[in-house]
Amino acid sequence: MELLERLERGEIVICDGAMGTLLQERGLPLGVAPEEWNLSHPEVVAQIHREYLEAGAEIVETNTFGGNRLKLSLSNLEGRIEEINREAVRIAREAVGDKAYVALSVGPTGKLLQPWGDLSFEEALKAYKEQMGYAFKESPDFAILETFSDLQEIRAAVLAAQEVGIFSICTMTFETSGRTIMGVSPEQELEELSKLGVRLMGTNCGTGPDDMLKIVEILAKNRPEGVYLIAQPNAGVPKLVGGKTVFEATPQTMAEYAQKYVELGVNIVGACCGSTPLHIKGIKEHIKNTK
Ligand SMILES: [Zn+2]
Repeated sequence: MELLERLERGEIVICDGAMGTLLQERGLPLGVAPEEWNLSHPEVVAQIHREYLEAGAEIVETNTFGGNRLKLSLSNLEGRIEEINREAVRIAREAVGDKAYVALSVGPTGKLLQPWGDLSFEEALKAYKEQMGYAFKESPDFAILETFSDLQEIRAAVLAAQEVGIFSICTMTFETSGRTIMGVSPEQELEELSKLGVRLMGTNCGTGPDDMLKIVEILAKNRPEGVYLIAQPNAGVPKLVGGKTVFEATPQTMAEYAQKYVELGVNIVGACCGSTPLHIKGIKEHIKNTK
């Protein structure tokens, strides 16, 4: 795995930033699944990938965060699941060529697994195998299983990736409390996922860069041998200003925190909700200049 070899050599790799909030900014109406735009507005999705590439991202994530059957069915798109996932990988690949890795974004099912909810582990596994199986036909470089709160659910996604044959990077979302909404700690994430053979894991979303620093410190301190770390904070805490959601962290702030993560030992830095190519550009330049 070329990415792992680069991390082993001590290279820092920059990931991209938000897709969903950027699509909303560019006209995606509330209530429409972002993944639908892979089919109806592929040029907008491609443009976002290109802007992240130009900003310095070496990993771009496909517009497939909610691309599993369970999530797509909420928008009556389950019949188009194959097209949506395959098209997303094709759009990203065409936009970045071989200048960046294309990572298949895989998010939660949107349902609670047993014993908290109705969804069985097997059903979750099946949904992830289906999504990743379709995407695999277009040869993404790897998958980023992201924004998970439940260890069982991310386990299902990891096992699905392994069965399909896609290398997976995992991120879980911690609240300012230091735990996921399902009560998982960063130490538990490291322990449980490394047991499954996951080599690259960390945290995304949930908090701005300052609150994420505490999570990163715990991850860095407890990282098992041979495990590499990734961190992707939101661009601050969203605030409602004049009826619009605004993320207030500047590219400079995001860049300074990204540098702190790197100093703690994080190997891949990117950003999540509310971030734009300007944030990624800030991170890229700051890290390059302070190395
Ligand atoms: Zn996010």
